[in-house]
Amino acid sequence: MCRICTDPIESLIGLTYLSCSRCPNLVTIPPELVNLAMLYCMGCPLLVSIPATLVKLTRLNCSLCPLLASIPATLANLTTLHCYTCPRLACIPPTLVRLVELRCYECPLLVSIPDTLVDLIGLYCHDCPRLVSIPGTLTRLDNLHCYDCPRLTSIPSAGSIACNRCPWLPRNAYAYPTHLPRLLRLQRWFRTGKKQTFKRVIRTRAFNEWIFHPDRIGGKAVKRQMEAELGQMRPEKKQRVG
Ligand SMILES: [Zn+2]
Repeated sequence: MCRICTDPIESLIGLTYLSCSRCPNLVTIPPELVNLAMLYCMGCPLLVSIPATLVKLTRLNCSLCPLLASIPATLANLTTLHCYTCPRLACIPPTLVRLVELRCYECPLLVSIPDTLVDLIGLYCHDCPRLVSIPGTLTRLDNLHCYDCPRLTSIPSAGSIACNRCPWLPRNAYAYPTHLPRLLRLQRWFRTGKKQTFKRVIRTRAFNEWIFHPDRIGGKAVKRQMEAELGQMRPEKKQRVG
């Protein structure tokens, strides 16, 4: 049980902070709580929605809510949003333009991150099996965790990137240091130059397989680097005794 379930609504209306996490009975947050700046309602198994009236919210944690299907587009003052492990959540509203930190990992229905979230510094979107790309407009990113996203083909540069086990961003793979800058350069070129013609092509598996084929530009560079490094690793010849 939480305060929403036990206290009269009149005593809650003035609150700017409320935590009702892990309440087994909570189904909705009362829309009258318009003064809330911080709301923590994580791990509520029956919670189905967040009211669109909570426009003063700057921090919201509604993670681990199995029935929650959306975040209201009206919460434009949010700077921190944690909505991880929400199996029914299908999108992050593009109107949340003040977000600085977004933790939306383990959301199996999430396909994209809005390109309007230009103030994002921390983005934690790992373990999102449908996520296809992270927009290049997120130029302030410092911390990007996007590992275990098998469909991810495009990410912006960031101070620190964790993208293990993403097939097209193989940080664990040998060629990571040469792959990533090249991929980013290519994407930038296609975005600015041949946008209309190649926008769709650049993201396809076929294109990436072609560019990194052993006989193409990407693959050749990787082979050269491997040869160079293998050459350095070769043990020194034993001096003849004699
Ligand atoms: Zn409750």
